Amino acid sequence: MPLKRKNRGRSKGRGKKGRSGFVFCSNCGRRIPEDKAIKRVMWVPTVPAAVARELEKQGAFVPKKRVVKYYCVSCAVHFGVAKIRARDERKELPEEMLSKRYRF
Ligand SMILES: [Zn+2]
Repeated sequence: MPLKRKNRGRSKGRGKKGRSGFVFCSNCGRRIPEDKAIKRVMWVPTVPAAVARELEKQGAFVPKKRVVKYYCVSCAVHFGVAKIRARDERKELPEEMLSKRYRF
């Protein structure tokens, strides 16, 4: 069967792993498999952004909270979190991932 993507749009593997858990899209609330969801980790300041900016300008330490966001594919594409790639690009890993992997 021809495949549109090498990993079939998921990071699950070919049969060994079985079913994966589910997460909810942080934008639309859709229930999506964990390995298919687009995960983004953000460090958000505990105070409002404008206040945080002002405090950092003065050299104060602003504590930040780790916020994990999961997006479904439709939301990720709509908000530009993930981009649609051309056929030949799609089969390979994106540039940023390759540079991360072979940094040493
Ligand atoms: Zn969504």
